[in-house]
Amino acid sequence: MFAGTEFEMPGTTSTTDPGCALCLSCVRGCPHEARSFKNSKIITDIVKCQSCGICVEICPNNSVQIAMGYGTNREDLNNKASEFLKKENSKAIILGCNWSYYPDLQSSSIQGAEDLEYKILINMCGGRIERQLLLELFLEKAWGVLVACCPDGECEHGGNLKAKLHVKALQSLLKDIEVDPERLQIVQIAHGDKPRFQTEINNFMEKINKLGPLK
Ligand code: SF4
Ligand code: SF4
Repeated sequence: MFAGTEFEMPGTTSTTDPGCALCLSCVRGCPHEARSFKNSKIITDIVKCQSCGICVEICPNNSVQIAMGYGTNREDLNNKASEFLKKENSKAIILGCNWSYYPDLQSSSIQGAEDLEYKILINMCGGRIERQLLLELFLEKAWGVLVACCPDGECEHGGNLKAKLHVKALQSLLKDIEVDPERLQIVQIAHGDKPRFQTEINNFMEKINKLGPLK
C-alpha cells in the first residue's frame, strides 16, 4: 500500500513549510494535481509529484521546498557549478533536463567524454533554470552556459517555455552589462538524440573558446 502518498517526505517531492499561508495557489497551479488541501494543511501526493518545481515558483510565501535530487534546488546546482568553476581550465556549464537528457547520459559516452572544460549538471526540469541561477554562474566566471531542454510541445510541465523566457531575459541583461549574449545559449533536443546533444555541446564549446574568458 502506498500510505506514503499522503505524507510529506523530504527528497525530490515538494514539501510545505509550517509558514504556509494556505492561499492554495500551489494546489491550483500544480499541473499534475499532486498538491491538495487536507486536514487544514497542504499535502503532496508523492506518486503524482513530478518534482517540476512549479509550486516552488508559484508560492508567494516561499513556503514550498524541494530538498534534493538531480539538483532540484538552485543552491544545490550552484554549489556543484561553483566547485567545478574553481578548477583550472574550467570554462562552461551545461544544464541538462532530467527528463530528456539524464537517461541518455546514463547510457551514452557523452558524460565520459566530458573534459575539464565543461561540466554537465542535470536539473529536474528545464523550467527550474531560473535567471538568478544563470546570472550566478556568470558571476562565478563561467565563460559560457548552455541550457538543454525538450522541444516545444514535449514538456508536460511547460518547463521548456519557461527556460526559454529565462534565457532570453538574461541574454538581454548580459547585453546591457556588455557581456556577449552568445555566451548563454539554449538548445531544444528530442529525447534520445544523443548525437545532436554532443554536437551542440561541441559547437558551443568552440564558440566559447573563441570568445575567451569573461573580462
Ligand atoms: S513539484 Fe510540480 S508536480 Fe510536484 S507538487 Fe509541485 S507543481 Fe506539482
Ligand atoms: S502557494 Fe505557498 S502559501 Fe499558498 S498554499 Fe501553497 S505552500 Fe501555502
